[in-house]
Amino acid sequence: MDLDIDTVRVARTRADCALRPGEAFLGGGTFLYSEPVRPGVTGLVDLMGLGWEPWSVDGSGLRVAGTCTLAELVAGPGALGGAAGAAGAGPYRGLGIVGECVSALSLSAKVARTATVGGNLALGLPAGSMVGLFVALDARAVIWTPDGGSRELPVADLVTGAGRVGLGPGEVLREVRVPGLALGARTVFRRASLTPTGRTAAMVTGRALPDSAGPGRVLLVVTASVPVPHAQPVHAGDHEALDRWIDLIDVADDWYEDTHGSADWRAAMTRRLAHEALDELGGTA
Ligand SMILES: Cc1cc2nc3c(=O)[nH]c(=O)nc-3n(C[C@H](O)[C@H](O)[C@H](O)COP(=O)(O)OP(=O)(O)OC[C@H]3O[C@@H](n4cnc5c(N)ncnc54)[C@H](O)[C@@H]3O)c2cc1C
Repeated sequence: MDLDIDTVRVARTRADCALRPGEAFLGGGTFLYSEPVRPGVTGLVDLMGLGWEPWSVDGSGLRVAGTCTLAELVAGPGALGGAAGAAGAGPYRGLGIVGECVSALSLSAKVARTATVGGNLALGLPAGSMVGLFVALDARAVIWTPDGGSRELPVADLVTGAGRVGLGPGEVLREVRVPGLALGARTVFRRASLTPTGRTAAMVTGRALPDSAGPGRVLLVVTASVPVPHAQPVHAGDHEALDRWIDLIDVADDWYEDTHGSADWRAAMTRRLAHEALDELGGTA
């Protein structure tokens, strides 16, 4: 740990979330306490003291607080979905991919008990698997603005680059909301990494779309191998259209490259995983 700061304030109310000069928000601290402190940051405001209910579900869908830990996400919404996957059934089968998406993070059980959903999304790392999970589930992020208001945006639009997100200074990621329709949909998860327990280098998630979006259509979401999430509706079984879309990613966006995988390898793995995901959601696998 390399933490050279002067203060840690525990936020108990929304008013406590007003940042003073030099302050930054603290979620579980698993990233902040493992990296050199950002230049200019002299204090932290601990959001865990707000005591938000980690998650709740009702007729309108699922809400997951920014402070919900990854362990709470698995034990709650993840358990509701079970290990349903594309073949499962029930009103929460869409959540069948929650456990896999959390496992896609290279975290020990101890870190998962502390790391939060909000911290993962706010970091915007390519390997931040909460992005792929919530984009596949059509979730919206609710953001508290420093003027006391709030705004919403699709999680698909939250990440704007590798390690960059569309959160302004002093904005708090309050919660993500998954619509009820997505909770009951069939979902899919695929990932690749250089080693079985290595950092996720390519991830494909997806969801069967309702007939109102056109019969037999599915949404596929590519993360980890690209700096920003890419999502595309595809007709089940239309592998040619899928290839054309992946080709477009190639043109529009550099594949991400770091010690966890070369760009070429990530592109090839993404294509393979996307075809597998399409087969699974289309019911042919
Ligand atoms: C061993 C190890 C392995 C890891 N593996 C991965 C991995 O595979 N993929 C990956 O993405 N990450 C990984 N991480 C990084 C990190 O642990 C996770 O991304 C985690 O989910 C971050 O959550 P946190 O609550 O600990 O965030 P914190 O460390 O508390 O904060 C991270 C950032 O988010 C901001 N923030 C936190 N909560 C909010 C909020 N509600 N609203 C606005 N801003 C907020 C903070 O200001 C800070 O900038 C790893 C970390 C460790 C130590």
